Amino acid sequence: MDGGSFFDPALERLPRGDLDALVDERVRYTIAYANEHSPFYRRWFREHSIDPRAIREHEDLLALPLVSGKTIRENQPPVAPEFSFRSLPWEDIFTVHETSGTSGTPKSFFLSWDDWMRYAAKYARIFVSQGFGKGDRVVICASYGMNVGANTMTLAAREIGMTIIPTGKCSFPSRILNSYRPTGIVGSVFKLLRLADRLKSEGIDPRETSLEKLVVGGESFSDEARMHLARVWDREVYNTYGSTEGTMCGECRERQGLHVPEDLVHLDVYDPGLESFVRDGECGRAILTTLLPPGGRCGTLLINYDTEDTTVVLTRGSCRCGRTHMRIYTPQREAETVWVLGTPVNRVDIERGVFQPENMEYLTGEYEAFVYPGDEGGVVIRVSMETRDPAALPKEDISGRFISSFSRYKPGLSALLGDELEIAFSFVPPGGLELHQVKGRPKRLVDRR
Ligand SMILES: [Zn+2]
Repeated sequence: MDGGSFFDPALERLPRGDLDALVDERVRYTIAYANEHSPFYRRWFREHSIDPRAIREHEDLLALPLVSGKTIRENQPPVAPEFSFRSLPWEDIFTVHETSGTSGTPKSFFLSWDDWMRYAAKYARIFVSQGFGKGDRVVICASYGMNVGANTMTLAAREIGMTIIPTGKCSFPSRILNSYRPTGIVGSVFKLLRLADRLKSEGIDPRETSLEKLVVGGESFSDEARMHLARVWDREVYNTYGSTEGTMCGECRERQGLHVPEDLVHLDVYDPGLESFVRDGECGRAILTTLLPPGGRCGTLLINYDTEDTTVVLTRGSCRCGRTHMRIYTPQREAETVWVLGTPVNRVDIERGVFQPENMEYLTGEYEAFVYPGDEGGVVIRVSMETRDPAALPKEDISGRFISSFSRYKPGLSALLGDELEIAFSFVPPGGLELHQVKGRPKRLVDRR
């Protein structure tokens, strides 16, 4: 126990038995609230012959069907006449948000002021667990707008006594760092790597700035990428995972998995076929249920919602930080997994190979990979890496390190290398990747079969 501080000590340190009892109480209230206020869930209970009063504890959720992003899209305009996930009248809806997702119309989310306070509390717990407190000044490079993360992080600061510098992007002038001497920054791994490169080009050493801690989120990343980022800045890097659906999980100073705010979000992990849940320690799909405290009101609530992210429950035991809430492995996007000769390969598997420490003298860290059909039913993975100077490049060494990292994590595919599987490499000058031509969230692993 590090004697560190807590945003909500009573809730964050609740003994396991009391926490489980609190969760069950909130499951009952949330289900009753859904039945009363959510047109979608009222119909869903009826159509699936579910008696809401029979759902007494979180285990009962496992018997219910799942909903997905597709379900939300099918129950909102333009497909349906009304937003049937909206569970409060317009006069009680404070803001409307949208998530882009990977396909089709954005999903709409409606937040009441209560929701804002709960979202902010989740981020406030994370910030405090990472050692932030009164007087800290934090640059938020995550984008504001229809996305809920940056906005509710900003409200979280008010609860803590922190100052937010809401740049909304990492391309802010270096004056921001010199003038306000921020102590923390929130951004993605790649944004913070680019920022470090830009500072260096301006003659500023990232290791000499006032920043004390880096908070990364917005996408999953490999440990290798995090270690590289930590080296470039010579600072601790903390991970957060947030979504408009309300899953705000974050690493505390122990950095042994992300704490899930169990009193506000219930998380189950299902097998990839979504048939049943898996045991702690096994990888599966993260399925979430909003939890409301009795009396709470909510603009959009979700029961058994498939996040389409995969994770592992690492432990429900107490953390050395004193928090009792469970910890999970950084969620990875299912949409960023491709199947190669019967083996799942995630973008993060490619990223590990790129970010081998000895490679980073020559690479910027930017990469993309394409999967093509090979000869006679085989497969080719083509990995492109952005180089600092394409002229002086030990290509064989860089490729070799990639292959040995990839083989270590994908032994099944390693056996097929040179036979059914070919991994090819190309090295491009700065700005030379295909993803630089595309707007929006870059897709770094693309299946072109
Ligand atoms: Zn902890």
